[in-house]
Amino acid sequence: MSDLPPVVFLNDLPPASAARNGLLQSGPVPGPVAIVGAGPGDPDLLTVKAVKRLAAADVVIHDKLVTDEILALANPRAEKIFVGKSRARHSTTQDEINRIILDRARAGYRIVRLKGGDPFVFGRGGEEADYLRAHDIEPEIVPGITAATGCAAATGIPLTHRDHAQAVTFVTGHAKDDGEPDLDWTALARGNQTVVVYMGVAAAGRIANRLIAAGLPPSTPVAIVENGTRRDQKVALGSVADLGRLIAWNDINGPALLIVGDVVRAAGALHVPALADAASAA
Ligand code: SAH
Repeated sequence: MSDLPPVVFLNDLPPASAARNGLLQSGPVPGPVAIVGAGPGDPDLLTVKAVKRLAAADVVIHDKLVTDEILALANPRAEKIFVGKSRARHSTTQDEINRIILDRARAGYRIVRLKGGDPFVFGRGGEEADYLRAHDIEPEIVPGITAATGCAAATGIPLTHRDHAQAVTFVTGHAKDDGEPDLDWTALARGNQTVVVYMGVAAAGRIANRLIAAGLPPSTPVAIVENGTRRDQKVALGSVADLGRLIAWNDINGPALLIVGDVVRAAGALHVPALADAASAA
């Protein structure tokens, strides 16, 4: 905030350590900043440390993936600042988010920067941490369950079942200007692995075409998991040849993960009843 008192230093110590040593002439000691993973949605999947940080926070800065049930675990007196994208308002830029975190921390508040899943998996947590360090605040990083492992557990898909996969690769399907992502398709199309695509709904059809062109059998099973671990979780199953169409057929428009590989067939029938139907029909 621009109306904060100016920080004046007595020596060359970086601001945070100067503050801790009581050397600041004015301005409060910067509050601690925790960059916290909120997991995929089910509040019971938060870490104990995440719950502790939320309960002690003065300010919670969160984005769209964080559910109301999780925000309800925060200190009731905490200021909650939404910095995600929404249809109703323009999205906050990364620069604006960085500034909000820094300004609130410099005002002496205990900050929780709450991010869906794990902050270091496609979550820009690294960029925010770098920015804070450049301003002499060392953030604490609290990991979260990332969408891939959360959705895998919630659907019973064993990502590295050893009969089917010796590797699992997390990729982003997001590309600038809605084009296709720049990925090593030949490597991703090789057998004996599972490919998990984050942010892949918009480009799903193109991703499928690329994988097939690079040699992935078109019959390779895929699962699309929307709102994984939440009450409104939806799972759509099919083959990679149908990936683009599956999105439209199943009306997928929430956050969704694409899981590509033979491990999808190993999902527990309890979690994915359609698999049991397919098996009994075969
Ligand atoms: N840091 C997050 C990922 C942020 S990128 C993490 O570790 O999970 C946002 C993408 O994550 C979404 O486009 C979607 O692909 C995936 N995602 C996040 N939460 C999800 C959920 N509950 N169900 C399915 N996909 C999810």
